[in-house]
Amino acid sequence: MKKRDLTIALVAHDNMKRDLAEWVDANHEVLLRYHLVCTGTTGRMVARTLVERHGDAAIAAENVTLLRSGPLGGDQQLGSMIAEGKIYALVFFWDPMQAQPHDVDVKALLRIATLYNVPTAVNRSTADFLISSPLLGSDYQPTVRDYTSYVERNLK
Ligand code: PGA
Repeated sequence: MKKRDLTIALVAHDNMKRDLAEWVDANHEVLLRYHLVCTGTTGRMVARTLVERHGDAAIAAENVTLLRSGPLGGDQQLGSMIAEGKIYALVFFWDPMQAQPHDVDVKALLRIATLYNVPTAVNRSTADFLISSPLLGSDYQPTVRDYTSYVERNLK
């Protein structure tokens, strides 16, 4: 699969958006080899960062897909994409110091990413490890536990 066909998801809570913007700026060259999908407000910030860096408005339109804002369903949209196997990696800078109105959505996103063994970075150091990994962009397939017996369990 070509890197352009691989999608990296980016999400940051408000207090963490500056961190994510800096990280995107520092890693724009690698990130632009992939398709980026973001929750709404994060995505606008990511797009602005890339446009400022490249001086080209088209770069955001070509590379960044915006979902709903996280608390308005964006986290759930991402979770759905993960369940459908459409997310190659997730960078999610969640806020460890502030409760979120959509805490259940945050948990659900982290849960489904864990269940499908999606490479997930929840802070900047892990994101640095992820973006510099020799596995990034390879045909690495995360193993997913076989849930057949769960799916086919007899409930009678
Ligand atoms: P936002 O959502 O990018 O729309 O701010 C982030 C989140 O999921 O909380």
